[in-house]
Amino acid sequence: MKTQRSEELFAKACRLLPGGVNSPVRSFKAVGGHPLFIRSAQGAILQDEDGNTYIDYVGSWGPMILGHAHPAVTAALQEAVVQSVSFGAPVEAEMRLAEVITRMVPGMGKIRMVNSGTEACMSAVRLARAFTRKSKILKFEGCYHGHADAFLVKAGSGMSTLGIPNAAGVPPAAVQDTIIVPFNNLKAVERAVDAYKNEIAAIITEPVAGNMGCIAPAEHFLAGLRHLCDEAGALLIFDEVMTGFRLAPGGAAERFGIQPDLFTFGKIIGGGLPVGAYGGRAEIMDLVAPVGPVYQAGTLSGNPLAMTAGFVTLQVIRQTPGFYEKLEEQSHYLESGLREALGALSVPFQINRVGSMLSVHFTEKPVMDFASAREGDNVFFRKFFHHMLQAGIYLPPSPYEAWFVSALHEREHLDRTIAAAASFRL
Ligand SMILES: *Cc1c(COP(=O)(O)O)cnc(C)c1O
Repeated sequence: MKTQRSEELFAKACRLLPGGVNSPVRSFKAVGGHPLFIRSAQGAILQDEDGNTYIDYVGSWGPMILGHAHPAVTAALQEAVVQSVSFGAPVEAEMRLAEVITRMVPGMGKIRMVNSGTEACMSAVRLARAFTRKSKILKFEGCYHGHADAFLVKAGSGMSTLGIPNAAGVPPAAVQDTIIVPFNNLKAVERAVDAYKNEIAAIITEPVAGNMGCIAPAEHFLAGLRHLCDEAGALLIFDEVMTGFRLAPGGAAERFGIQPDLFTFGKIIGGGLPVGAYGGRAEIMDLVAPVGPVYQAGTLSGNPLAMTAGFVTLQVIRQTPGFYEKLEEQSHYLESGLREALGALSVPFQINRVGSMLSVHFTEKPVMDFASAREGDNVFFRKFFHHMLQAGIYLPPSPYEAWFVSALHEREHLDRTIAAAASFRL
């Protein structure tokens, strides 16, 4: 595999950008080597700057559920781009996306568009605090809700990947109202709710964790959170930035039949353009300015290109019969194939999968929270990662990130992936 151009570009990038990247998870720091510079992508296939091609399981970290450069999305963007790309005034495209989201997601009264998942989560918490007139938030160890100060304690994703325990530059005051509890541990939530009676504004969670690998909620976990929130007068926030429109038309909330008070979205609803959104019960959302006193704004929020890409993405999903069934089938096929392939090695491993989110952990015990995810053998993961990359399979460069299957991962791609895994040797 020739990667000379990527190496040259990375050397240049390192002189211009901290660590050569604009988001730490891209850096390959956890797996060693240098990141590949990508030139283009089509469907499930990425092409790097040296002309190598890969089957892509990163999917831009979630958004590319239709595969890359979907013709309907591309055509709509081409049409939109010539109308000028931003006005700072309302556009019809905002409503189209808002309308399709409220149709697909049960309990979505009103929604506010922002520019990233980070903004969405930060704003949802501000809103929950205003609505409940309480200050504390409860989050789970290993869950990632973007990089706002209050969330940067025991967060998953890049912080776990890079082994950063607590982010520098976050003053103690910014996290003093953040309570951290292990994921899937309802007893611990109960204890925290008890200890901070009448002080908790919200419990925020990824309904399926995807930033410490993929971890399904234990049975009754989400229902238990709903119950505890109701008892404590706290809001339940589902951070569906990753799971929204990936696990079901109505996200994890629909898949698991639990209604949160607020949702946050991102990734898929931008179709690959920068986007986020938060929404939920209308009476809560009406506290947001200009109706209410909760201030939150954005120069580029509701950007016409982002709205268009997101709208068309969701329309294609809605109009494709059996969209989620096929994703489930393909993902199940991949999981079974990987199980068989890795089973032939004499190494302990776990494969966690919920719908089209999947992760492989080289560890003996089931992975159901951050502590068990950390048991994974990272040296082994590194070897596996580079073996797969050499074989043309582009995985997230971290054991703490979920793989994503898209609608365009066909049998042929999955078979090649399984064959690559089967040829892995220690
Ligand atoms: C990606 C992600 C975020 C942050 O979104 P950005 O657009 O990267 O700011 C927040 N929450 C979850 C669950 C995510 O997966």
